[in-house]
Amino acid sequence: MIEAKNIEFKYKAASGFFVNDITLDISEGQICCLLGKNGCGKTTLLKLLYGMLTPSSGSIYYKGRKICAATLSQYHEEVGFVGHCWCNESLTLEHNVGFLSLLYPSFDRKYYESLLKKAGIEADSDKVFSAFSAGEKIKSEIAFVLARHPKLLLMDEPLANLDTVFKTDILEILQDEVAENGLGILLSTHLLDEISDICDRIAVMDKGSLTAFGDRFEILGENEDKDLRDLVKNTDGSGPRIVPAEAKDPVRKAEVQI
Ligand code: ADP
Repeated sequence: MIEAKNIEFKYKAASGFFVNDITLDISEGQICCLLGKNGCGKTTLLKLLYGMLTPSSGSIYYKGRKICAATLSQYHEEVGFVGHCWCNESLTLEHNVGFLSLLYPSFDRKYYESLLKKAGIEADSDKVFSAFSAGEKIKSEIAFVLARHPKLLLMDEPLANLDTVFKTDILEILQDEVAENGLGILLSTHLLDEISDICDRIAVMDKGSLTAFGDRFEILGENEDKDLRDLVKNTDGSGPRIVPAEAKDPVRKAEVQI
């Protein structure tokens, strides 16, 4: 569904951080979990895949079409991004959604309202968005993006500020969307316990590079019982080394340096 081929990117600003030669793909009906320590480049990679940043080299393809200025708006009709400033903080949620929903013909208001209800948020609250808690902000963003019925969802730490009840609900909803509608998801998270049972694939980043990418069982190999945290915790090379089981095409053969 989406395929990134050898993408590279460098921030012009002082950080000098760069993304180095990343190749990965996400298929329909698949959840891929993006792991890595703070600052390793997960958000940058997600922004590149969404077209918010442009790779300095390499290309990204969605359903076989290269993503570029000419194809971006059509791409955004089918792809959702959760985890960035999605609406105007000085307006109410209803004002924001009233305006933003016009941009997305697929927006399903009934579904949106049912998700908001599940999240315990009043659709017509007169609070401006800046007065929402971090959890309410992410919940309403997830509701809005899911109600667009995207085919691909890029999610940047979506679970971090969610209460347990809504987290369980949202993971179930995501799993249903994947199973019933073939939604593809790339989701970055630190909450490995919650996600480890539902992800099909794992991508691990370290210092701007992909150090592992493939089927969950192939990545973990014989270490399936091991806590996924170990995979991330030791990407600085200090810990034990896990070499995943032989990866087969289209999964890229990856040696995990742990
Ligand atoms: P992660 O999501 O894994 O925590 P990020 O992709 O947010 O990592 O950041 C990776 C690196 O890029 C960090 O060192 C961060 O300081 C730097 N960075 C992020 N955004 C910018 C920016 N707009 N300009 C310059 N450097 C940035």
